[in-house]
Amino acid sequence: IKIKITNIDIPVAFASAFEGEIIRKGDMQVEFDGSRVDCVELVTMKEMSEVEDHKIELIGPDLDEFEVGSKHSIAYVVEVAGKSMQADFEPVFERKFHSYLNCIEGVMHTGQRDMIRIRVSKDAYDAGFRAKHIGEVLYAQIKNEFEAVVDRCQVKIYTNPEDCTKVRHEIAIPIFDKRDERLASMTDEAVPVYYSCIMCQAFSPSHVCVVTPERLGLCGAVSWFDAKATHELQPNGPCQVVTKERVIDERIGEYEDVNEIVKKLSQGALEDVSLYSIMEKPMTSCGCFECICGIEPFSNGVCIANREYAGQTPLGMTFPELASMTGGGVQTPGFMGHGKHFIASKKFMKAEGGVGRIVWMPKDLKEQVRDNLNKTAKELYGIDDFVDMIGDETIATDPEELVAFLTEKGHPALGMDPMM
Ligand code: SF4
Ligand code: ZN
Repeated sequence: IKIKITNIDIPVAFASAFEGEIIRKGDMQVEFDGSRVDCVELVTMKEMSEVEDHKIELIGPDLDEFEVGSKHSIAYVVEVAGKSMQADFEPVFERKFHSYLNCIEGVMHTGQRDMIRIRVSKDAYDAGFRAKHIGEVLYAQIKNEFEAVVDRCQVKIYTNPEDCTKVRHEIAIPIFDKRDERLASMTDEAVPVYYSCIMCQAFSPSHVCVVTPERLGLCGAVSWFDAKATHELQPNGPCQVVTKERVIDERIGEYEDVNEIVKKLSQGALEDVSLYSIMEKPMTSCGCFECICGIEPFSNGVCIANREYAGQTPLGMTFPELASMTGGGVQTPGFMGHGKHFIASKKFMKAEGGVGRIVWMPKDLKEQVRDNLNKTAKELYGIDDFVDMIGDETIATDPEELVAFLTEKGHPALGMDPMM
């Protein structure tokens, strides 16, 4: 028997109206900050016998024991069991946590996986909000939304720094790595279909992402496996099957059937879209891209800026300035929003020559993608340590200085065909 939970047992309100609520430093009782200490959120599938439905366990001190305004570790693990449950659904549930926790009055959540940040307001705390209520919300929402596949659900919340470190490094990261590795070995050619995603049409009404194994959604949070799982969980939901049988142009990755579905899902706003080109019929962007890539005419290449980067780029624009001209669900040749993982993809700007076009990235981003990007460049061009040829803000934010650096390094973009 399945019971629908309509009332969540928490001392504050729960509604989508609170989703955009911002909690300022001065109003915050406590903060969990994954960029400073070990934090993680995880969904993991278990055997039916291992899960006691609606068990919410707090392992470690509660919010009362933290000083007002202090930063702490937190790790919450949601264990689910069900006859129709699949491990592929885990990341789909995890992705929902952001919206679930933001619906709590006086709670703010950002990020995903082990890069999360949560603030609890003084008002919520005074109303009686405590750590176990995070578990109550996750439990109730998962049971509500995914009752078709989740028969039992329990939540473990860790607040001791040692436990959080252990859960993050010994349990969660190996699982995240396994998910990423499985995707890394897949190619677009090896799968029969792609998936569309229109989750962002609430903000960008004509935007459609086409998600392929080698090109994840531009938010960085929807891989081909996630889109597939979302489709299986909700056949009429935001992710639909996209066939790719009628090729128009292999080089830029254009298909008649892809165009048809994009046209339908964008209500006619988009006629045609390519999967692998930034110049010809590029995919549109909503507003939640992890990165933006734009052409840099002096070097014949492209610069990439990630959302966390606050400084100037050689394009003469900052990330917010680039975002304002790239978003909104319209095609802007020469600019595209994309996920971080896409940077090391063999399909990244394949039509224009691939990752060899990348001439500049913030230093931090270079480190994040270094190993995978070096590997791709080695396979595509036989170049070793390609990332060292790419400029960053410590080398140049001026196009002429950048070209001088690229020339000195013998960067491959300088010898490629002009993009315009
Ligand atoms: Fe879906 Fe694309 Fe929005 Fe990500 S950015 S949620 S893949 S529509
Ligand atoms: Zn979006």
